[in-house]
Amino acid sequence: MDKAVIYGLGIEGRNIVESMYGIEEELGIEIVALIDKAEVKKHFRYPVYKPDSLLKLAYDYILVTAKQYYYEIKKELIEKYAVKQEQIFLWHNWLVGRGKRRYYCNVCSHHMPLMLKAGYESPVFSVKKIVGGGSRDAAVCPFCHSYDRNRWVQYVMEHKTEIYERQSKILHFAPETMIEQKLRAVHQGEYITADINAAGVDRIEDITDISFKDGIFDYIICNHVLEHIKAEEKALSELKRCLKDDGKIIFSVPICWKEKTVEDERINTDELRLMEYGQEDHVRLYGNDLKERLEKSGFRVTLYRVGGELAKEQIKQMRLLAEDTVWILEK
Ligand SMILES: [Zn+2]
Repeated sequence: MDKAVIYGLGIEGRNIVESMYGIEEELGIEIVALIDKAEVKKHFRYPVYKPDSLLKLAYDYILVTAKQYYYEIKKELIEKYAVKQEQIFLWHNWLVGRGKRRYYCNVCSHHMPLMLKAGYESPVFSVKKIVGGGSRDAAVCPFCHSYDRNRWVQYVMEHKTEIYERQSKILHFAPETMIEQKLRAVHQGEYITADINAAGVDRIEDITDISFKDGIFDYIICNHVLEHIKAEEKALSELKRCLKDDGKIIFSVPICWKEKTVEDERINTDELRLMEYGQEDHVRLYGNDLKERLEKSGFRVTLYRVGGELAKEQIKQMRLLAEDTVWILEK
């Protein structure tokens, strides 16, 4: 068994370490220490040291958890702590092909022995049972960082639409990075990303006042956007306006199936919004009347629930949530 040191206990580093608990042998390593420059208060099953300890520790290799800083860290390990180049790996690369093919990510097509933890603990999620909210184990693909809900969107697009088969003009709001890469590769110039904030999208677009002409898109993708938008009806009518007559909107929102949509003017502070809607910047919490709300805006609505589409085994393998739902809206 190789003796390994894990370097980097930032948020992802912590999740990585916890995801390896109990399967070290399957992965073929013995974790001898965790290293971080900063003071680490969280308790782990392995001892935590500062980088200086590398000079005294016995190990075969070091696994670096921070993709973004990998080359900087590697340089420092070699120069300061006399680590050999061939002893340093990016954890994500090291993981490829290791352990059991327990899980499968349909976004990046990797099989893997583990997925990473997602979300954070909050009573709002457990009390309201908001699908896809709150802390959950083994939810994030370590390779493409897709969440359960992203994998379900990907599945629905692949199996319930022709978006990957047919040349299409697509508008993608608040694009999920890993899905954006796939769609852009297929549709190139016909694929446009948009967001109200500038962060790396093709167009700045206000969903309640879209700058595109009528009836030009085959697909509009709009996941986890509408819960942020006060003028919901305006947004839905704008989406409808830009859609071709035979176009489709791929749509999802956080939802609580136990009750009707909650939207109340008295819920007007960050604290209240977090409690009642699940997030400070949400303006409502969608409920079991969502289909009627969408139909009222003039859409034909088809919904795809994980539990209604896939067998238990497949749900487990893809780490999906049975209640997760993607909606297809048509004119
Ligand atoms: Zn993936």
